[in-house]
Amino acid sequence: MVQFKNIEDLGALSNKRVLIRADLNVPMGTDEDGNPIVSDDTRIRSVAPTILHLLEKGARVMVMSHFGRPKGQVVPEMSLEQLAQPLANVIKKAVVFINDCSGDLVAETIDAMEDDAVLLLENVRFHPGEESNDADFAQALADNADFYVNEAFSCSHRAHASTEGIAHLIPSAAGLALEKELSSLENALGDPKRPLCAVVGGAKVSSKLDVLTNLVEKVDHLIIGGGMANTFLAAQGVAVGASLCEHDLADTARTILTKAADQNCTIHLPTDLVVAKEFKAGADNRIIGLDDVAADEMILDVGPASIDGLADMLKSCKTLIWNGPMGAFEIAPFDAATVALAKAAGSLTEKGSLVSVAGGGDTVAALNHAGVAGQFSHISTAGGAFLEWMEGKELPGVKVLEK
Ligand code: AMP
Repeated sequence: MVQFKNIEDLGALSNKRVLIRADLNVPMGTDEDGNPIVSDDTRIRSVAPTILHLLEKGARVMVMSHFGRPKGQVVPEMSLEQLAQPLANVIKKAVVFINDCSGDLVAETIDAMEDDAVLLLENVRFHPGEESNDADFAQALADNADFYVNEAFSCSHRAHASTEGIAHLIPSAAGLALEKELSSLENALGDPKRPLCAVVGGAKVSSKLDVLTNLVEKVDHLIIGGGMANTFLAAQGVAVGASLCEHDLADTARTILTKAADQNCTIHLPTDLVVAKEFKAGADNRIIGLDDVAADEMILDVGPASIDGLADMLKSCKTLIWNGPMGAFEIAPFDAATVALAKAAGSLTEKGSLVSVAGGGDTVAALNHAGVAGQFSHISTAGGAFLEWMEGKELPGVKVLEK
């Protein structure tokens, strides 16, 4: 099992300057007066325990992040200044903001700061060297810190100066949330208890081709749901009517099925379907077998008999990885399969027979909708990084923290 450097490994922290890479790229909305406000502070809350832990150990804490896509230029609307108060509200400590992330001003401010306050630095992506992982820029970030802590899993699939370059230059560690995330992911795909099952759903095969290709080599059971199941069914000769379907990927789908058979990976496609003529909430719908889709009907969900079978099969599994909904879960009643399978997985996890890890934006929304997010062993809110991990790719910001 791969081990990662953690905060303990950094040693004594008293009076040490620790630079945390957070992901404060939070969704924003506006208040009644039209002022920008944070509409979901999950990412701020996830970095809070690490900040408070470091302060408790007597460290001088600096936080850096990107915000938006300023592309190496100063874009005032993307200043991290607007995150200073929301961060202070969460950690209940004073937050000082300065309008740069490297250079003398950072050094002077952190040295002069009161104990127990946190220094928030300006958007790292205001510098062109951030995304190009420029060695001089990484060095400039490192110059003002004794230690580096990565608490931004969602950014760790990018080799940027603040996620990868800096970690080569000063002693580095995974923050508390990243440490938990990595050990959960390692338990799920690195060194899992078997049988291991993956659920891959969502709209299109084309967006998850690498995920499917990697998983058939690693998992014992692969459940394919959502729109992408239509592509697999069509590739096997099922008429899918007006369904979302990538007919041009029929050969690819067949190759994946053959590869799975070679690898002893059992693929589970739906055996019954929920179809409707309209893509809207409450649309008239039918539950049918595979050979009964009319030309003007769309497959919008996996059928109940399939889900019963899958829930039963899950009882024999020890580990589950989940990305993507089983159907058009945003519109009832086409959320039924996603909700039922999520509930089955949640309850097996609560009983202790299943380790369940899920991730990706829509998946988190689907599990929240099913009311089972709290029952899963681990839910990753990282989108791109979680998918790249499911694709079996090395995440540069994580790799650099390996022991
Ligand atoms: P993804 O981002 O690839 O995980 O896709 C999620 C989206 O796939 C959601 O918006 C779902 O509504 C959509 N989806 C899932 N199943 C179907 C289906 N059978 N037909 C059309 N869209 C679907």
